[in-house]
Amino acid sequence: MPEKRTIRRMRRPDSNGGGPSKTAKRRTTTDDGDEDMTSIHGGWTDGQKQMDASSPFAQALKLEEKAQIIKFIDDTPYANFRRHWVDRASSQQGGGTIRRAYVCPGSVDKDCPLCDIGDRAQAVSAFNVVVLGDEGQLLLKTWDVGARLFQVLKAYSTDPKIGPLSRYYFLVNKTGKMSNAQTNVTPIKTNALAEDWDVDPADPDELASIKPYTPEILDIPSRKTLNEIAAEIADEYD
Ligand SMILES: [Zn+2]
Repeated sequence: MPEKRTIRRMRRPDSNGGGPSKTAKRRTTTDDGDEDMTSIHGGWTDGQKQMDASSPFAQALKLEEKAQIIKFIDDTPYANFRRHWVDRASSQQGGGTIRRAYVCPGSVDKDCPLCDIGDRAQAVSAFNVVVLGDEGQLLLKTWDVGARLFQVLKAYSTDPKIGPLSRYYFLVNKTGKMSNAQTNVTPIKTNALAEDWDVDPADPDELASIKPYTPEILDIPSRKTLNEIAAEIADEYD
């Protein structure tokens, strides 16, 4: 049995503007918080959580062969856009190339230098999910899916036995390599979590304390940057 965790993120401030709230207990403490919220923890999952929280970028869910259990925070994608993947020289010594993602300005109906040179942008829908960690921790991730998975998730969301997306849990993994790679997404009902997977459901307080990603996390690169990249790509064909 995993130990009951004591660390808690600070709750979000009441967002209903002080209007009449149905059930919320009035907090009598000030924002200094209480001691329970300030204990520091060890372990890999908590380490990853700290790493993720200090990054200015959304942390992408990476599927592995080993199954991960996730929970959707929202019922719909928080952002829909198009994205270019470009191989660029790594700045690290002897680093070869690295694939980088650029949000296509065409997503917001602006001209795109990369589209102009024929680079095809892929459609992406991004979902807020948490991965259930090894000691009940919840790690916020963005799950950026393409057209095929989008249809799978949409079908689950409208399936009366499964949807909406935030209702239950999902087991996700990836099998095969390269062109044979296959993503598996399997819904798990809450009671099956404990019975079949020996995993505790997400703590509702902790879930409520997570601040999900919003479209603002996505940077649309400047025209200048994209012109430079377009020139680099054109050079490769000289
Ligand atoms: Zn584009």
